[in-house]
Amino acid sequence: MITTSYHNHSTWSDGSSTPEEMVLAAKAAGLSEFGLSDHWVIHPNKCKDSVSWSIKLDRLEKYVSECLTWKQRLDDENFTIRIGIEVDFFEENYQQVLAQLRQFPFDYLIGAVHYFGTFPIDHSAGPWQSLSQQQIDDIWRGYWRKIRNLAASQSFDFLAHLDLPKKFNFLPSEGFSAELEETLLALQKFDLPLELNTAGWVKPCSECYPGKATLKRACQLGIPVLVNADAHQKEHVTRFFPEAEQLLKDCGYQQVCSFASRQRKFINL
Ligand SMILES: [Zn+2]
Ligand SMILES: [Zn+2]
Repeated sequence: MITTSYHNHSTWSDGSSTPEEMVLAAKAAGLSEFGLSDHWVIHPNKCKDSVSWSIKLDRLEKYVSECLTWKQRLDDENFTIRIGIEVDFFEENYQQVLAQLRQFPFDYLIGAVHYFGTFPIDHSAGPWQSLSQQQIDDIWRGYWRKIRNLAASQSFDFLAHLDLPKKFNFLPSEGFSAELEETLLALQKFDLPLELNTAGWVKPCSECYPGKATLKRACQLGIPVLVNADAHQKEHVTRFFPEAEQLLKDCGYQQVCSFASRQRKFINL
């Protein structure tokens, strides 16, 4: 059974439930470990739209202290709150961003890519609709390069939603499987776990991130995995967890990762 859930959002960023509602829902769902991971987005080009769905830049300390408060109140022998954050990766500034985060007691940092340049990959289908196939291919190519650089930075505890650009079904031309393979090899080389993110199942792509064939290949390569709902409201903290567990087993996985104080352990499925 999947008993951990580390990728979740609250009203600190773009979630609709408060931290209190999220942690109480996680406890009620019988999870053994739960962490909020609200967005932390410092766009190097001061992309205005990024500010609206990030923790406010002067409120990071308050975010961490609220997480610690709930940890003190709710942790017991069966339930542990972990403290996380979903960090947008930009080659231009990740070192400064990570230096700032180092002063806080995070249990894990999630590495994520939601932008190619200032192009918002997963906000809505709108920006994709006006693109030519060649422009779509360019975004995919740039996205995979960013993910490989994220892995090579060796700064994160796991990667968010590996193949996020598929969300609205604007897929690359044939022949892009080599880019994916190269990216998986980078995850293997730099020992970066990926998540089975169940939120994709309710998006236009109708598939978790990443899909079955990619998870199978990741398992062959020995890339560690974990399951997350990427919940933005309290009702979703364990959404599709039984389906995700079955899929991981079908792909050959026997363990998932857990995190505490930036150390990884494995739990048998
Ligand atoms: Zn994300
Ligand atoms: Zn997220």
